[in-house]
Amino acid sequence: MGRIVVVGGGVVALGAAMLLAADGHQVTVLERDPQGPPDDPADAWEHWERPGLNQFRMAHAFLGGFRQIVDAELPGVAKALQDAGALRLNFIRDVLPATLTGGWRDGDERYEWLTGRRVLMEAVVAAIAESTPGVEVRRGTAVAGLITGACALAGVPHVTGVRTRAGESVMADLVVDMSGRRSGLPGWLQEAGARPPIEELEDVGFVYYGRHFRSADGSLPAILGPAQIPWGTISSLTLPADNGTWSVVVVVSSRDTALRSLREADRWDAVVRSLPLAAHWLDGTPIDDGVQVMARLEDRYRGFVVDGKPVATGVVAVADSWACSNPANGRGASIGMLHALTLRDQLRAAGLDDPVAFAGAFHRVTTETVEPWYRATLATDRHRIGEIEAGIRGVAYDSPDPAYELEKALNAAAGRDPECTRATFDIGFVLRTPEEVFARPGLRDKTLRLGSGWRDEPPFGPTREELLALVSA
Ligand SMILES: Cc1cc2nc3c(=O)[nH]c(=O)nc-3n(C[C@H](O)[C@H](O)[C@H](O)COP(=O)(O)OP(=O)(O)OC[C@H]3O[C@@H](n4cnc5c(N)ncnc54)[C@H](O)[C@@H]3O)c2cc1C
Repeated sequence: MGRIVVVGGGVVALGAAMLLAADGHQVTVLERDPQGPPDDPADAWEHWERPGLNQFRMAHAFLGGFRQIVDAELPGVAKALQDAGALRLNFIRDVLPATLTGGWRDGDERYEWLTGRRVLMEAVVAAIAESTPGVEVRRGTAVAGLITGACALAGVPHVTGVRTRAGESVMADLVVDMSGRRSGLPGWLQEAGARPPIEELEDVGFVYYGRHFRSADGSLPAILGPAQIPWGTISSLTLPADNGTWSVVVVVSSRDTALRSLREADRWDAVVRSLPLAAHWLDGTPIDDGVQVMARLEDRYRGFVVDGKPVATGVVAVADSWACSNPANGRGASIGMLHALTLRDQLRAAGLDDPVAFAGAFHRVTTETVEPWYRATLATDRHRIGEIEAGIRGVAYDSPDPAYELEKALNAAAGRDPECTRATFDIGFVLRTPEEVFARPGLRDKTLRLGSGWRDEPPFGPTREELLALVSA
């Protein structure tokens, strides 16, 4: 068992800390933001500020992958989330007609997901983490660099702790960087004399324009379609949340400067009103100050083993600091928890006695079990950006990539066949990779047979010209 320092105290990092502490590790979470959650999570929306976490007030859904790990490994957290008002939804049980799903089947419980405002979800998880034996959460403690000791492999720095911005040294057998998509880890590694990690950064990202709403009577808008819907050059995201609240987001390409006035509430409102399946999600009272904007949402991957050798030992990057993608797919927390579970299991299997072997093994299992999710999401994002850019130019997007054809066909087939419907949930909810799903006998052929007409489906929602008129009116 080791002393583990987790850098960053977001919801997934706190979950990781609890997983590791349950195995007997002494875990110290260092979080830059000073304020902790209020006693009552219901007060968190009004009274908890987290300036270090840009997405704190952005729409979040915690999909089946996240829910499954929390149910299995942290059952107290799952119950507390529900007690605080987070919803457990299952499209098959709660939303879709039996004519589309074929009725409830054994195994459908895996499609259950959790949803609530990130602020509330994190307040609940933080309160439990802070009272978990073996977990210490130190807020107002920004990490500024790494401390290194004797190398375990010649020429490769070995990390033995972190240096805080206040100049304190916090020693550890393993440093787990979970400081998010803007992590400073590559810079800290460079200062420690490490070779640079592999970094892949997409040159186009997404911009989020979102708002939360509340109903007077605790009711929620009717769910009339998928949570995320592409409408030509924009996508909408509509998510029910806790205690009679919900969120609505318009997602655009970061290159689409013509839509920047979506930050103005009246134009954002006009655009959402023009979307047939989303317009009624505006029928509530807005609970945030204007439209919340988050830009620079690129896909980024970092690989910390280069040419077969770790760039450093004694430190790993987990969740967004390792790889992050377009949040509109709602997969970040699920992929992050899967990565945290992978870390826990790797520590069980190999321990920390041989830091070089541990670094190599963790990289290998990450590549095998977590990276396929990043790669699949990246492929989806690249095609979505391609569709948006083609839409801006007024031409149709197409791609010879068989995975694109299969993904579009599956979405079209989902409304026609129960097995295809479940396949979209398996992939969308981070339960089974596309590769695993399409290995099912006959599914690939059925998908292409039922869904190959997706190009002929009539477009609906505003045209590009109508959209531009709405944002410039
Ligand atoms: C707009 C948006 C919407 C999203 N929606 C969803 C969704 O619907 N579903 C979903 O599953 N995922 C969603 N995600 C992704 C999700 O937020 C992350 O994948 C998930 O929280 C895992 O992140 P993390 O723990 O790696 O980092 P984060 O949650 O980003 O937390 C990083 C933490 O590190 C702290 N920190 C940073 N630097 C330092 C430092 N130097 N020292 C100490 N602390 C530091 C920050 O203050 C912060 O608390 C969304 C992301 C964004 C940006």
